[in-house]
Amino acid sequence: MNALGILNDLVVNLALLIAGVTFITLTSQGQETRESAVRLLLRYSSTVFLGLFLMTHSVGLVPGLLFDFRGVVIALAARRYGLVAGLLVAVPLALYRLSLGGAGAWPGVTSLLLVALLASVGTGLARRIPRYQEDTVAHRAWTALVLFGIAHIPFFPAFFLAGKPVVQTLPIYLTLTVLSALGLVAAHLVKQSRLQSLAQTEQLKQLVFVDSLTGALNRRRFDEDFRRTEQPAFVLMLDLDQFKQINDTFGHERGDSVLRALVRTLQETVRSTDGVYRLGGEEFAVLLSPCDEMAVMRVAEGLRRRVQDLVAARAGLGGEQQVTVSGRLVRLEGEKRDVLRSADTLLYQAKSAGRNRIMTNIPLRPVATGSGTLSAAG
Ligand code: GH3
Ligand code: MG
Ligand code: MG
Repeated sequence: MNALGILNDLVVNLALLIAGVTFITLTSQGQETRESAVRLLLRYSSTVFLGLFLMTHSVGLVPGLLFDFRGVVIALAARRYGLVAGLLVAVPLALYRLSLGGAGAWPGVTSLLLVALLASVGTGLARRIPRYQEDTVAHRAWTALVLFGIAHIPFFPAFFLAGKPVVQTLPIYLTLTVLSALGLVAAHLVKQSRLQSLAQTEQLKQLVFVDSLTGALNRRRFDEDFRRTEQPAFVLMLDLDQFKQINDTFGHERGDSVLRALVRTLQETVRSTDGVYRLGGEEFAVLLSPCDEMAVMRVAEGLRRRVQDLVAARAGLGGEQQVTVSGRLVRLEGEKRDVLRSADTLLYQAKSAGRNRIMTNIPLRPVATGSGTLSAAG
């Protein structure tokens, strides 16, 4: 094949690599710590498929020696998920390479396994040594050169045994190494730009929907979630009792600690399907959805009691000081405006009835509510 033909095939192989890596990154949804098995399986099978597909479009550099970017695919898997993942990708590709035969078969297979080993070990080491955690293109390029430089060493003895002098093997070795390293850097840049934009989106979502002082969801998110609740749903609106007095006595900063401790206490008490929101100032809401009508009474009362028992100590107020909330519990149905209006009336009643209690307009059934501070109202 002439030089132009080789160049053409190389560009096609690189384009396939970039397209495949782009597709695989679509299975990532951000910096999630736990990924679903289905997603991982899809990513694994796409990765193996990409490797095999690249091999079916390989470039015949010299007779018996086929080049493509399969090593890059293995390196990406091993870097992200470790040795086992790297080998799981490498083995099917190695088997396919063996089935093709030729002088480059055995060194090719050995180098694939070496890529899995070196990429995982190298990444593991780099994580421990701050100097190697640099994430510049130059750093990526030289680590890729070292990786493929070592992984391609088996070509020397194999070609020597096949009667090729070292001077002929050296340009082949250098070509394989440089091309693979270029492929790895290009694939890494594609993958990184997608993951970075996902991470940035995640950060922006945090800024848009989370209250920066307390870590609770904010009013904007409350307005969105309010419309999306699964019935039966309830909202428990909470207002700190005598909070101005707490600020006046302990200072505004301690007041902020009270707000944070309150949110922490609420968040760790509710289920993962519920939401804790700061609507503004010292007013909070808990969306309980879906929630059984009998259970919701107990949940609301439980939250009130935990606030009373824990928040003051958690905020470091000390002594006899208590932090309590007054609340109103209403069913989420109909217009939001009407729901919030009826909640406001209930709050007023809770405050004038002595605070540290939850009022509700849900018809109370005979249910034990502990301290009896859960009260039905008109
Ligand atoms: P009530 O039991 O009737 O609700 O009395 P209250 O003192 O809690 O209510 P009031 O509305 O009189 O005061 C609310 C206070 O909440 C006043 C304000 O300084 C305080 N506050 C609002 N936002 C913040 C905040 O972000 N940090 C702190 N430390 N205080 C806040
Ligand atoms: Mg208030
Ligand atoms: Mg208040």
